Amino acid sequence: MSTKKRSLKRPLLFILLAVAGVLFLFIDVRLVGEDPRPVGSAEDLEALAERDDLNVLFILVDTLGAHHLGSYGYERDTSPTIDALAGSGARFAKHLSQSSWTKSSMASMWTSLYPARSKITRYEDALPESAVLPAEILREAGFRTTGVYRNGWVAPNFGFAQGFEVYERPLSRNVLPGLRRENPTVRHGGSDDDLLHATAEFLEVHGHERWFLYLHFMDIHEYLYDEETAQFGTGFEDNYDNAILRTNVVLEKLLQYLNENGYRENTLIIFASDHGEAFSERGLEGHARYVYPETTEVPFILSFPFQIEPGIEISTRTENIDIWPTILDLLGLPAMEGIDGQSRVPELLAAMSGEPLPERERPAIAHLDQHWGQRQRESAPHVVLADGDMRFSYTTVPNQPPILELFDASEDPDELKNVLSKHPEVAERLRDLTRAYIDHSPDPPWGDAAAPLEIDEIQLNQLRALGYQIP
Ligand SMILES: [Zn+2]
Repeated sequence: MSTKKRSLKRPLLFILLAVAGVLFLFIDVRLVGEDPRPVGSAEDLEALAERDDLNVLFILVDTLGAHHLGSYGYERDTSPTIDALAGSGARFAKHLSQSSWTKSSMASMWTSLYPARSKITRYEDALPESAVLPAEILREAGFRTTGVYRNGWVAPNFGFAQGFEVYERPLSRNVLPGLRRENPTVRHGGSDDDLLHATAEFLEVHGHERWFLYLHFMDIHEYLYDEETAQFGTGFEDNYDNAILRTNVVLEKLLQYLNENGYRENTLIIFASDHGEAFSERGLEGHARYVYPETTEVPFILSFPFQIEPGIEISTRTENIDIWPTILDLLGLPAMEGIDGQSRVPELLAAMSGEPLPERERPAIAHLDQHWGQRQRESAPHVVLADGDMRFSYTTVPNQPPILELFDASEDPDELKNVLSKHPEVAERLRDLTRAYIDHSPDPPWGDAAAPLEIDEIQLNQLRALGYQIP
């Protein structure tokens, strides 16, 4: 009898469980999958400056070249979540980072100064206390400010903590099973999952106040990917793409958290990168060796507390030094003084209203001291100017004339063919601008450069652990 009863009861139980499961899934999908933001207009964009409830989330993904993202034209589907951010916000289509080495690039991004003016071009350079950084302006305006970073080049001893109430590496938790790290030079632990925990901890404490959170993602730099979900093969560049896909999953979880906890409708999200990555386009791999486009064309996406339908594209040239002038302008906060970058709010408003974008007046600049890590050697700048479809490259060679190159993206999208002899007048104009940039850039607004840091062996080892060659 009991057997019969059980057999009758069980299907009922299963049906009940199945119904409950479906309901749970439905609720889950509804809460997680739906974007809670209303659709906004150009007026809503202008009105951001008046809002006193707006938070700022700055997502900096280290080592993410624009050309490896779907929304920037990549044929592989590496980045659905990032593409969706762009698709309901603003995507800056031709966006240049100021260097291909994290410290120099991040110093330019935060100060809105080209490297020749920030003077952060060598391994021992640090931003002085007198530099005014965006986090200081936000803190002054009443934001709770926290920075969480996983790259030693933006550590507090280089001056990057200014304005942050809390500025630290995340607690390094066990790396989830299935994660593989393909960069053989990286030896420190943790993963970008640690940033999710740090975000939840920060918002549980300060989420009810006005906040600014900077998260510096690092998994792509380390070629960290998930074995389970990797789909792009096993080569060097394949694993880079697998790592982007894995970062995309972490970002999806981050956005879900914001959606579920009611932050999305009052948070401005900045998505950016410090540099890209080379895959032997010119015989070299990695980054921090030169500033050709594969290492300096990066994404810049803004996601507003409202959706833009459809997302807008800013097709004129922009740069990482424009990011903070744009954000401060959007927030109605005081602008930084004496800077090189400029607010791109006029471009955003024009694009939202379907009007022509303002013309750009001068070339954009990327710069790397090729000897940044060699203490005994004089600086040897590689400077690249992006001017419309033209890109001019000036490579300093010790005791020899510089190597000059000119690339024309309109005829050669990969920019590998030197067409300098075809356009001598263009090359001459851009060479003069480059010389003026190298030789006559004015001091930063805070005056002279800071005294170089004494970096001890422990810190150098930390940086070597990131894969950098420091003698
Ligand atoms: Zn970097």
